[in-house]
Amino acid sequence: MRCPYCGSLDTQVKDSRPTDDSSSIRRRRICPDCGGRFTTFERVQLRELTVVKRSGRRVPFDRDKLQQSVEVALRKRSVDPERVERMINGIVRQLESMGDGEVPSETVGELVMEGLKGLDDVAYVRFASVYKNFREAKDFEEILGKLAEEPEPEETPRLKKKPAQSEQ
Ligand SMILES: [Zn+2]
Repeated sequence: MRCPYCGSLDTQVKDSRPTDDSSSIRRRRICPDCGGRFTTFERVQLRELTVVKRSGRRVPFDRDKLQQSVEVALRKRSVDPERVERMINGIVRQLESMGDGEVPSETVGELVMEGLKGLDDVAYVRFASVYKNFREAKDFEEILGKLAEEPEPEETPRLKKKPAQSEQ
């Protein structure tokens, strides 16, 4: 595995263990050349996915790209990396179970928004603002309004949160 910092190919695994839900193996790695530390996940891929862009162009689904955009949205937010990993796994499983392996890019964006909504409100608004390419402030107000209105889904206990406001 190539070091993301210096490009060395000689990185070493320091620790290897399954994630809490055993859906993937988490490996902590270290690069002896630059001392850089990073984590990789090994996981099941059920099928190849193709994303159909708005323009009609088809590109292979890229989990790393999806993860990067999620990480940008989560920047400086303290969210457990394993929860992020579970969310992304969930999104990928949903995409894999759809139709014939071709998914519209809108669907991917919407699943990410749904996932982030349960993870971190700030990250959700960040992602939504980029994804929806908002041009006007009122769009933000609208989405923030929706956040305040919608109670958290109750069916999954780990998503349960106390409502931020009790003005309903
Ligand atoms: Zn390195």
